[in-house]
Amino acid sequence: MATDNRSQLHCAPALALAAFPTLLPEYSAPTHEAFAIALAGGSTTDLGQALSAYSGIVSIKGREFRLRLELSASTRLADAVVEGCPALVQLLSGCEDVVAQRIKQSVDLNAFSFELRDLLERLVDAADRPAATGYVLQQGLRSSEFYTRVIEELDAVGWHNVSLEDDTLSNIRFTARDDRQREHSLIVQPHPQHPAVPPTCVAALPEPFRILRWNSASSLSNVFQQFQQALQRFQQLWDDLDEIDANTWVLEPERPTRDCCHRRMALEHNSSVQILVNPKAVRAVPECRFLGADSIVNPLRDAMNDNISQWDETKPLLANLGIVLNVQFPSPATVSREEVTVACGICYSYDLGDSVPDKVCDGPKCRQPFHQACLIEWLRGLPSFQQSFNTIFGECPNCSKPMAIKLMPAR
Ligand SMILES: [Zn+2]
Ligand SMILES: [Zn+2]
Repeated sequence: MATDNRSQLHCAPALALAAFPTLLPEYSAPTHEAFAIALAGGSTTDLGQALSAYSGIVSIKGREFRLRLELSASTRLADAVVEGCPALVQLLSGCEDVVAQRIKQSVDLNAFSFELRDLLERLVDAADRPAATGYVLQQGLRSSEFYTRVIEELDAVGWHNVSLEDDTLSNIRFTARDDRQREHSLIVQPHPQHPAVPPTCVAALPEPFRILRWNSASSLSNVFQQFQQALQRFQQLWDDLDEIDANTWVLEPERPTRDCCHRRMALEHNSSVQILVNPKAVRAVPECRFLGADSIVNPLRDAMNDNISQWDETKPLLANLGIVLNVQFPSPATVSREEVTVACGICYSYDLGDSVPDKVCDGPKCRQPFHQACLIEWLRGLPSFQQSFNTIFGECPNCSKPMAIKLMPAR
């Protein structure tokens, strides 16, 4: 092999490399001895020059790099060195062994240049897809000890609590039930260096789930136990929110997940109240926001202020809200969804992107809801349109009653 390499380097020194035609050959300076021969009448092609490198700019998948293939004085291809600009060095970092192996396996410099171009193209591709690189590298790092150990740990967790999201054990789903038999999932991603590095965990909880006290003796059953304990902390929150979900018309979110602490509940006359519950103080007065016609929601705000002293933190949220607002929430048992989700009077739809019709005409016989965006566009087109600071004035498209709309940033 070494002999082949040697002959190749000297047989075609001036030829461009087929894989990198832009690289130019460089020659070592002629020796004094070679000059002496030339001066004595010898051929100038025998000046004793030796091909020492190829260097120049190469374009790989649209990215340009400075590349230099330094050829060893030993003339063995196996001793050649790949050098380049910092970007190229960075690209090849971690692949030094691959480069060395390909140099060894190539029959000549030209063959190696094709190998090198192929490798660089793959690396540029991977660099453009960082997620894919991470995935490939992570997969590569998993050892058979990793699989043996993780499977043993899953045995201890109990397979009835486990489902595998893929066959590389990189995403494992734990399922646990809380005191009320509500089902909760935890996605566990063991680190390739498990258990030296703790796994990554993702769960739909009102507060982030973090693994505590992880050390090299910890296992996935510790994670499962800590997840079950974490569920305990939110029982009262989920009890109170489940009661609201079952007994009122929740307009938003449409399908609440277990990490969601807000609810917008329908009230009469196309109005609604949105509450934001603090998961650390479930029974405290939640943040409340009222949506609807002023003639409906102003009295609700007043009632809340007047009755707040009656808020009793031993009672569930729904009971307290009913008392301080002095309202009966429309219930799915007696009122249809169509009655509480009245479409916008302009576009005749309910959902418009992220917004719902929450601007409501104050006319007692009208109470028509509109999307803010629809209403503003409508009012701007009227001859009676007036704007003062952040309030616009016009007439209800439904009953012609004068309306004033405060411009609020779209939610
Ligand atoms: Zn609309
Ligand atoms: Zn109206």
